[in-house]
Amino acid sequence: MAFTDKYDFDLLKNEAETLVLHELERQLETHDETVCRCNECVVDMAAVALNTVKPLYRFSLLGSLYAAQAMNQQAYANGVQKAVAQAIEKVRKNPSHD
Ligand SMILES: [Zn+2]
Repeated sequence: MAFTDKYDFDLLKNEAETLVLHELERQLETHDETVCRCNECVVDMAAVALNTVKPLYRFSLLGSLYAAQAMNQQAYANGVQKAVAQAIEKVRKNPSHD
């Protein structure tokens, strides 16, 4: 039996993804149409931001308790905010299409 079949890794969840997507949605609302909202650009923004922030994996059965203990939440939220702002700017200047 394969290792990945033996254990249920679907229980792993990167909390950073939820936070980044939420922040991306919020920040895009404040930008005008010079920022492209096509699927390619928006997913690219999410990827750029997620590669900047520290991953925040948790074992979903344990809830957010572990995550809350493991980090300074405010500092992390600030990091997410900054990473998303930089990602939007990067993709705006250099979209992955013409
Ligand atoms: Zn685009």
